[in-house]
Amino acid sequence: MKLARSGLFWKLGLTYFLLLIAVLGAVDFYAGRILRQNYIRAADERLNSLALIARSKPPNFGDEGALASWATWMSRSGARVTVIAFDGRVLADSAHDIKTMENHSNRPEFHQAMGSGEGESVRHSHTLNRDLVYWAIRFDRPSGPPVVIRFATPLAQINTALAEVRRKLWEASLIILLLAIGISALFSRRFARRVGQLKEFSQRVAIGDFRPLMQESATDELGDLARALNDTASRLSATISSLSDERNRSAAILRSMAEAIAVIDADEQIAFYNEAFAELWNLDSRNHVAQPAVSVIRHPDVLKLIRSALTGEEARGELSLGVAQPRHFSVTAATVFAISDTHANSENRESPAGAVVVFHEITEIRRLEQIRKDFVANVSHELRTPLTAIQGFAETLLNGGLEDKQNNRRFIEIIRNHASRLARLTDDLLELSKIEVGKQPMDPQAVNVTGLISSAVELAQDAASRKEISLNAIKPPVGLPFVRADARLLQQVLRNLLDNAIQYTPAAGCIEVSAERNGSSIVFTVADTGIGIPQVEHNRIFERFYRVDAARSREAGGTGLGLAIAKHIVEAHGGQIWVDSEIGSGSQFHFSIPLAT
Ligand code: ADP
Repeated sequence: MKLARSGLFWKLGLTYFLLLIAVLGAVDFYAGRILRQNYIRAADERLNSLALIARSKPPNFGDEGALASWATWMSRSGARVTVIAFDGRVLADSAHDIKTMENHSNRPEFHQAMGSGEGESVRHSHTLNRDLVYWAIRFDRPSGPPVVIRFATPLAQINTALAEVRRKLWEASLIILLLAIGISALFSRRFARRVGQLKEFSQRVAIGDFRPLMQESATDELGDLARALNDTASRLSATISSLSDERNRSAAILRSMAEAIAVIDADEQIAFYNEAFAELWNLDSRNHVAQPAVSVIRHPDVLKLIRSALTGEEARGELSLGVAQPRHFSVTAATVFAISDTHANSENRESPAGAVVVFHEITEIRRLEQIRKDFVANVSHELRTPLTAIQGFAETLLNGGLEDKQNNRRFIEIIRNHASRLARLTDDLLELSKIEVGKQPMDPQAVNVTGLISSAVELAQDAASRKEISLNAIKPPVGLPFVRADARLLQQVLRNLLDNAIQYTPAAGCIEVSAERNGSSIVFTVADTGIGIPQVEHNRIFERFYRVDAARSREAGGTGLGLAIAKHIVEAHGGQIWVDSEIGSGSQFHFSIPLAT
């Protein structure tokens, strides 16, 4: 972070520095040039006016001595004076001995002066070994060839002046530079710190930390940027939190659904599944997302449904799993469409991106359907037997049986028995369906268990005595609490159990009715010493029309509904009914009823 800030600082500082150096260089260069030109122009003008003086007061060119002293006199102006003959010979020079001087015919100012009357040049003097500004004029003598009078002034002065200007310029620049460095250090440090804060903020936002930036009071672009970023982050945070709320809600709904659900992506890989799905396909606790659907759903029909949904066609089907206890499912595979913004207006805007497959368990529906079918078949069967008998004996009577004095009474008795069996059957069926659909009005009250048992025993006593069976109510423990029940219905349960006990107990047998407390319920028991019930039938005897020995039951006038009615009544009270029995060693029917609180 510190490196990044100083990086920005150095970049900005260096840029300023280079800019300053460039400006200074340019100023130095152009100022030098202008000063030099000005100086040369001034020197030219001075030398020109000297030339005018020289022209107005020419020397005696014929006399070498006079010429030399004229040159010396003219040089008092500060300029070097040289007189050169038309052929380049130096006739006089105020700064050098002419004898050692070379021919000057190749000097540019000499050439110009000879040609146009005036000549000028700025160059290094080999004679004096320094830079000079030369100004030369051609002097046409009245007699004899022309001569060139040349004036020169050294450039050293201008160089000194220039050096002075340059020194001042650089001094001032150095001060400006130091100031600029200081100011730019301050500025860029502040700038870098603010940029650093913005960078830190964007990194925070990238990892999901949407806490806002410190409010910037600055009104510059960086301040605007900070405010805009804050704004964006807070909007982003709101959007993300609403999206994640939405997602959590959907995930919670999908997870908690009883239906097994899985989402399959376009590559036929699992993208999501809920617990019910994992349980249905016996998946272990590892994460199976991104696994091929074919390795998880090992059923070709389901895979076919999924593939058809992946091509955009919703598909439904049914599935049965398991052999011993088959479970049935209705399976729906629906297409998930991806809406792409880029093709907002094109036709294939929605393309299949996956499939949602839902397994809805219908085992219970199938079971109930089966029960209904069995019930209808059983009822018709149960009704047909007495009806056929009634019909048969009625016809026998009509076809002369009435005149048969010996049998007609017996026939009519048979008809009456079957008719009363029909009546019992319809009564029981009616009772059962009333309880089943909840139409049987229940009047739950606190019921005294002892009283209930003794009245049930009393009512059954006659039937028991006829079969020479001893029927006893075992005195319940003192202080047995009351149960909360509909006394009439509970009485019916006891009556059904006692009827059966009497029915399936041979003469000289014994029946006992008892009750005891078990937790928050009273458990009633009707125990007999009868024929007993095989273990495998224990659950089934509570089903409608189920009988261990159908012929015997029918013969005894049983409808096969007694235990089914008892079970329904007990369960409607929130209790349970079960049997302990073995072939040949009697049966104990138990049922529990919750206590009255
Ligand atoms: P049913 O009208 O035939 O008695 P239930 O529903 O009352 O019909 O009983 C169903 C079957 O359970 C009977 O047919 C009988 O086989 C068996 N069962 C019921 N109670 C006893 C018992 N106490 N001893 C032996 N078998 C019994």
